[in-house]
Amino acid sequence: MERRVAHWKHLDEPERDLLGEYTGELIRSKNWEAARGFALTEEMRLLIAAQAALLILGLSFEHYREVGAIIVHPTTVVLTGERGSSVPGLMTDAPMPILGEAAHKGPILIAWDAVAMDVHHPERGHNVVFHEFAHKIDMLDDVVDGTPPMARSEIDRWVQVCTAEYERAQLGGDDLLDSYAGVNTGEFFAVATEVFFDRPVEMAEQKPDLYDVLSGFYRQDPAARVTGTPR
Ligand SMILES: [Zn+2]
Repeated sequence: MERRVAHWKHLDEPERDLLGEYTGELIRSKNWEAARGFALTEEMRLLIAAQAALLILGLSFEHYREVGAIIVHPTTVVLTGERGSSVPGLMTDAPMPILGEAAHKGPILIAWDAVAMDVHHPERGHNVVFHEFAHKIDMLDDVVDGTPPMARSEIDRWVQVCTAEYERAQLGGDDLLDSYAGVNTGEFFAVATEVFFDRPVEMAEQKPDLYDVLSGFYRQDPAARVTGTPR
C-alpha cells in the first residue's frame, strides 16, 4: 500500500487499520472476475479494493452491500449493442469506449490500465475506482440521482449546493469538475467524488460549499489530511 497507493501516506494509524480491514473484506466477500483471456493478480485485487475502501472509511462496510461482482478488464471496454444514451429517451448503438461501469443491480466493470494510472496520479483528479464505487453508493436507495441515502437534515443543503455545481458543469465545467459531471446528476456525484478524494485541497479552496457537503456525507476531511488544518 505504501508503495502503490498515493493516499496511504496521508492516513493516520486507525485509518490505515480500518482501510486494511475493509480492503480484506472486499477481497474476501465480493466476487472478483477477470475478463476473458485476462489474469487477475493479487496486486490488482488489492489496489482496487484499497481505493474502494478509502471511500467508506467514515461510512460503513454496509455501504457496499450492492456491490456484487467486480469484473476487471485489461484495458478500455468498448460497449456495443443498443442501449440508452446520455440523452434521456434516446437509444444508441454507437460503440463507446469506457474505463468502467457500475450497473444498477449488476456488476462493476473496471479497466485495469486506468486503475494503474490513477493510483499514481491523484493530482489529475481522475479515479475510475472512486467513480464506479461512488455509483454503487448512490444506488443504495435504488435511484441513481446523485443523492445517496443521507440524514434528512442534510438533504436540503446537499441538493442546493450540488444543483448549482451541476448546472455549472452542464455549461461546460471547469478545471476541477469537467463537463462529464454535467451528463446527469448520477455522473455528477461520481465525478465530484473523484475530485473530493484526489484533489481535496483545491476543491476546498475553489468549491468550499461542495467540499463541505461531500465532507459531511463521507464523514471525511481529506484536505485536512494533506494540509494538517481541519476545516
Ligand atoms: Zn459514471
